[in-house]
Amino acid sequence: VSYSAEDVFSKIKHDQIKFIDLQFTGLRGRFHHTTISANLFTPQQMQDGLPKLDGSSIVGFASIEDSDMVLKPDPTTFAIIPWMGNAKTARLICDVYWGKDKGRLESDPRGIAQKAEKYLKTQGFDNSYWGPEVEFFVFDKITWDVLTPYKGQSYSIESKEAPWNQEGKGYPMALKKGYYPSTPADTLTEFRNDCVECLNEYFGILCDNHHHEVATAGQCEIDIRYDNLTNAADGAQTYKYVIRNIAKKYDKVATMMPKPISMDAGSGMHTNVSLWKNDKNMFYDKDDKEEVSQIARYYCGGIMNHARALSAIVAPTTNSYHRLVPGYEAPVYIAWSPSNRSAIIRIPSHFKGEKYSKIKRIEFRAPDPSSNPYLVFAAVQAAGLDGIKKKMDPGDPVYEDIYKMTKAQRVAKGIKDLPATLGEALDELENDRKFLAPIFSNETIDRIIEIERADDHEISIRPHPHEFYLYFDI
Ligand code: GLN
Ligand code: MG
Ligand code: MG
Ligand code: MG
Repeated sequence: VSYSAEDVFSKIKHDQIKFIDLQFTGLRGRFHHTTISANLFTPQQMQDGLPKLDGSSIVGFASIEDSDMVLKPDPTTFAIIPWMGNAKTARLICDVYWGKDKGRLESDPRGIAQKAEKYLKTQGFDNSYWGPEVEFFVFDKITWDVLTPYKGQSYSIESKEAPWNQEGKGYPMALKKGYYPSTPADTLTEFRNDCVECLNEYFGILCDNHHHEVATAGQCEIDIRYDNLTNAADGAQTYKYVIRNIAKKYDKVATMMPKPISMDAGSGMHTNVSLWKNDKNMFYDKDDKEEVSQIARYYCGGIMNHARALSAIVAPTTNSYHRLVPGYEAPVYIAWSPSNRSAIIRIPSHFKGEKYSKIKRIEFRAPDPSSNPYLVFAAVQAAGLDGIKKKMDPGDPVYEDIYKMTKAQRVAKGIKDLPATLGEALDELENDRKFLAPIFSNETIDRIIEIERADDHEISIRPHPHEFYLYFDI
């Protein structure tokens, strides 16, 4: 369903909606809202927006001197929020504008996503489809309390000391052994069913499957259907929002932190993408051995060429770099491959033949769920289109497990590493940012760098708990 402004007002009346949550996303990726009374909401406000935001309090938006902003609701995003209790509440995702006729806020992530869609059209394509695979952890209170003092520390895989082996109930599992256990070992099946029902029935987001992921302590994945760029980013934000709220109903807490537990798998947000023209998937080529078109290869080439700078946007937290290490199905090396999970780009090839041409896509595996999906999709689009424009051929796919190669073997094959730290990624973005220029303003990139540098600094000035193991008796 795609609602018009009129539909929204008739829904408000018909469903007796009392409140409207105006939602938007800050530069850091946080989802925000402010609530208005539905009976005072007018068609004029829907059209012109509501002056309801002090942008200076939203990370990355504005300075204090000039911070009056307008939230302009997008009627197509209307949805009833089912967990709000008696006073019926609906949400509308908003575009952010400056007050006083100064136009769109350049650092509104949703605006950046919309700009990426416009830019795609100037490059000779009609549309792109995006399918994020968001992984996340769910902790219950007890686990959370037990884990907190231990976070960041390492244990041997089956150590009795490991907090997840100390609960004395349920089925203990070794680290990295959480993939697809049946119930009751998988204790989160009903929770995920509820998330899927909520996303389907209330938010119009279709989910084709869900499962327990590899990490033992409650790691989940729910896959949502592909959509065009802005809708897919709205969808990813809505997904995180729904999951956090349903988890709360279960007296649990969901986290999008990419690596909450050392020695176990981290959470990724693999990003699947294809480009379309005249209803044809431009990434498919029946005459190619892998059925991957030259356009798709150049697009991969663009992502690979800019991968080190892109990392600061797709893996934007200091914690992201604890995930991007060998041995956990997270990518570390800048290569592409039909099936290899150690490469940053995988081109799934389970099925071949023209009847599967629609699902030919590339899977970029570096992004994680601590990222801002609007910025991720826009930046990936910028890198890929730069690759097409400059014919950046990515070379041959790598079939071997790159985790097992020596550094010398990698160098011989021209395989580079992703940045090892957020600081390194930020240095790369400082120097390789031109490719983003058609979509991101320079000031927005500066702001992203500034915000992330501050985190990096906060972490660098603090002793890490594990340092006590290494150095306390030195
Ligand atoms: N959790 C892995 C990551 O960090 C991916 C695992 C998978 O989906 N096969 O990317
Ligand atoms: Mg998956
Ligand atoms: Mg997965
Ligand atoms: Mg995947």
